[in-house]
Amino acid sequence: MPSIDHEIGRLEGLDEHAIEVLKTHGAIAKCTDCGEHEVNGLYNEGVKATYAQVTREFKRGEIDGSLEEILHAVRNAMANVNIECPDCKRDHGE
Ligand SMILES: [Zn+2]
Repeated sequence: MPSIDHEIGRLEGLDEHAIEVLKTHGAIAKCTDCGEHEVNGLYNEGVKATYAQVTREFKRGEIDGSLEEILHAVRNAMANVNIECPDCKRDHGE
């Protein structure tokens, strides 16, 4: 059995990869006002493209985990990203 530490590292790797691919496709983007924080790009095509890419990568054996795990990592990344920039939202007085 793999150690817990190894397992956590592997899952973190999947999360990082999911975020990286989401950024590549514009589903996660830097705030257009401050360029500091990462926010939801509100770009559904980007999310779809991400699912398609990680599925292809999984089929090529490039994902260190199951298809379910990497798809979960993508969903999780989108669920955790800020919808609005935490700084700019405050500056705009909303
Ligand atoms: Zn901002």
